[in-house]
Amino acid sequence: MVNLTVGEPDLDTPEHILLAAEAALRGGDTHYTATTGTLALRQAIVTKLARDNDLPYTVDEVVAGCGGKHIIYHALAATLNPGDEVIVHTPYWVSYPDIARLNSANPVIIPGSEAQGFKLSPQELAQAITPRTKWVILNSPNNPSGAVYSEAELSGLANVLRRHPQVLVMSDEIYEHFVFGEARHVSLLNVAPDLKQRTLIINGASKGYAMTGWRLGFGAGPAFLIAAVAKLLSQTTTCPSSISQAAAVAAFAGDQQPIAAMREIYQQRRARMLDLLAEIPGLSCTPPAGAFYAFVNVSGLLGKRTPEGAVLHSDTDVVTWLLNEAGVATVGGAAYGMSPYIRLSFASAIEVIEQGCRRFKDAAERLS
Ligand code: PLP
Repeated sequence: MVNLTVGEPDLDTPEHILLAAEAALRGGDTHYTATTGTLALRQAIVTKLARDNDLPYTVDEVVAGCGGKHIIYHALAATLNPGDEVIVHTPYWVSYPDIARLNSANPVIIPGSEAQGFKLSPQELAQAITPRTKWVILNSPNNPSGAVYSEAELSGLANVLRRHPQVLVMSDEIYEHFVFGEARHVSLLNVAPDLKQRTLIINGASKGYAMTGWRLGFGAGPAFLIAAVAKLLSQTTTCPSSISQAAAVAAFAGDQQPIAAMREIYQQRRARMLDLLAEIPGLSCTPPAGAFYAFVNVSGLLGKRTPEGAVLHSDTDVVTWLLNEAGVATVGGAAYGMSPYIRLSFASAIEVIEQGCRRFKDAAERLS
């Protein structure tokens, strides 16, 4: 089985972060901390936001949690009332609509298109906002499409948001360190600092520092929102692991060289995967500008017949066929609200990517 579904780095957490965790463990850093995170961690997050994003925050405007997802959940849970609307654009990270639903809100799904680079346009956003809109969720670099919004694109969205002061904005920037070629990560607040009082930035250690298992993410936003999130966190998880917090201080405030090394590795894998996918009949793929996924258009495979006589009607059929016929695991676009696509992760060793794509090609050539 070749697994190309993984949504996490296969690389190890950098050594200096491990050493910081070890020191914390041996040094007695084994107690509850402040709900929003230790002061050292919040200072490290503030340092990171200033250094990487050119965004000024104070320690009262950031909150650490057990992963970015944990903060997303608590932010939505702390603010949503039944019937509120949360605007999400396809292809979306699978958890956004479900977290909205879990909190009795209605996800309003705006369909995206590959022709538009999988990006939300200001016109589409304007049309989707209603008096019930509580949140708009933006995700750049995007999982699964790899789309990265430019300054001009974010400015266009900000112009629409300015007309709706009741709307909160979530800017999920968890893949910020993995952008390729000409692409550059820009935060919404770089182009629209006036939206700071209603924007929550989501980020964390998981992807950039290869620390998914440490469960350490954060939110940065206006103090009223951070306080609301903290109030809820104090009754759910109390605080993130003290050891993970100490490790994250080293991640956010320490040596950043490992990130550049990881980006280089992903860049090579991305190039290899795109070359190999281009050889497979029936596929096309807009090169992802960021994150570590290829979101592949499989419309050219639909209507084809497998050697067993089954006809591929959807991306779900393609995923099942690929699994059974080639032993390659991928994720169907339906999970991200967009068909007919499949997501292939390149957060895997190059040999795994090569084997997966070779098997995919052999299987595709057996279709009629
Ligand atoms: N946001 C996006 C777009 C993701 O893909 C993920 C993880 O897959 C997360 C947030 C949450 O990551 P974590 O909870 O590990 O910080």
